[in-house]
Amino acid sequence: MRTVSTVFPSVTGPAYTPFLLGRFPGPLGLPGLRWYDRSRARCSFPHFTRSYLGSQMRLMDGDLAPDAATVWELTPTKLGAMHMIGRGLQRSERLGYGRPLFMLRVAQVHFRGSLQGWIDIDRQIATDVAHHIRERRPAFVFAAFTGVDKASHSSGHAHSQVTDALKIVDGAAAEIRADAERAGVWDETHIWVTSDHGHSPVEKHDDLAGAIQGEGYKVIGHPWVYGPWDVAVMVSGNAMAHLYVERALRSRPWWPSLAGRWESLAAFLLARPAVDLVLLPHGPHRCEVRAPSRGAAMIELGKGYSYLPISGDPLGIGEHTQLSSDDSHDACGNSDYPDALVQIIALGGSSRAGDIIVSAKRDWDLRARYEPIPHRSAHGALHKEHMLVPLLSNRPFASPPRRTADVMPSALRALGLPVPEGLDGKTFV
Ligand SMILES: [Zn+2]
Repeated sequence: MRTVSTVFPSVTGPAYTPFLLGRFPGPLGLPGLRWYDRSRARCSFPHFTRSYLGSQMRLMDGDLAPDAATVWELTPTKLGAMHMIGRGLQRSERLGYGRPLFMLRVAQVHFRGSLQGWIDIDRQIATDVAHHIRERRPAFVFAAFTGVDKASHSSGHAHSQVTDALKIVDGAAAEIRADAERAGVWDETHIWVTSDHGHSPVEKHDDLAGAIQGEGYKVIGHPWVYGPWDVAVMVSGNAMAHLYVERALRSRPWWPSLAGRWESLAAFLLARPAVDLVLLPHGPHRCEVRAPSRGAAMIELGKGYSYLPISGDPLGIGEHTQLSSDDSHDACGNSDYPDALVQIIALGGSSRAGDIIVSAKRDWDLRARYEPIPHRSAHGALHKEHMLVPLLSNRPFASPPRRTADVMPSALRALGLPVPEGLDGKTFV
């Protein structure tokens, strides 16, 4: 087992892109679980927003950059279970998402807020995945088990319900191994168990949208996304949020040109007890980071990644200049913000990201209302409890993995298939 880092935002859906495309989500067009389409090219009238929690999940494939290949498009035979991103999968290669009757069940379970319903879905997926592998031997399988996340949200991640949900994953791995040994193919099977994000307890919920409204701005935020607005608040996980301003503009405005009108909002956010980091994108390769009482710094991507203090060291990693992607990862290694330099540039500079991005403090999330399952634990933020995940393998790693994005190229390598250019991950096989 190794500990690797996931992506920002550390939330299901966007955080599946490293596993299924070997790339970070922002530049692929999935900046969060909820986002506003400033270009109006993908999302429709009248509100031009997206929330993948619900029927819009089916739009994720089309929201993804068309030129980025999914692992489904690159492997000869495959199976996806609860995969969310399904571009390149036939109907017979899907379990869970993408099957109409199953989607109805998922919707019922979601809106009833039924934890037992999610656990039952995990058991079914475990049985069906093992059966499918036994009968059809697909080259590549991705199976997501959502019970650990749902139980963590509803009961806290130390609760026995979470252990029970983990036992389903353990049982699925055991059954797949036993079948592979019986069939004499265990020696050529790679099995990896990992996660798209971590979790940490939430004590307090900040109604971020309501608070901004209290400052006199017109605000939209799911489920209320209709009508004119000054600020669109799009929360993911629920420990991060994209905030969009200047509604009339169809292409991204950047800081510092936004400062004249919006500096006071940035300062208001930074002063909230729930807010850990405020990110102000200055361009596709430049993003300012501010933290309460730790000052501001600039992250830039030129020949490499640089982190230059302006009035302090908000990430607590010291000054760095022109680091490679790997060295940037290692520079953040023991800090509170794993892979922050690379992740902040990847998200902050992407075309669909907010004009202000907020990452929540420990103990806090950014949505106080409208959740079907009560949130006693959260994720989505940049701090290490959310960003670090385990990666277990049934055989030694050829080189140390760093990121969840390493999984997809490693799968292609293990299958003897070519690895596309331009991935964010590197093979550990
Ligand atoms: Zn979750």
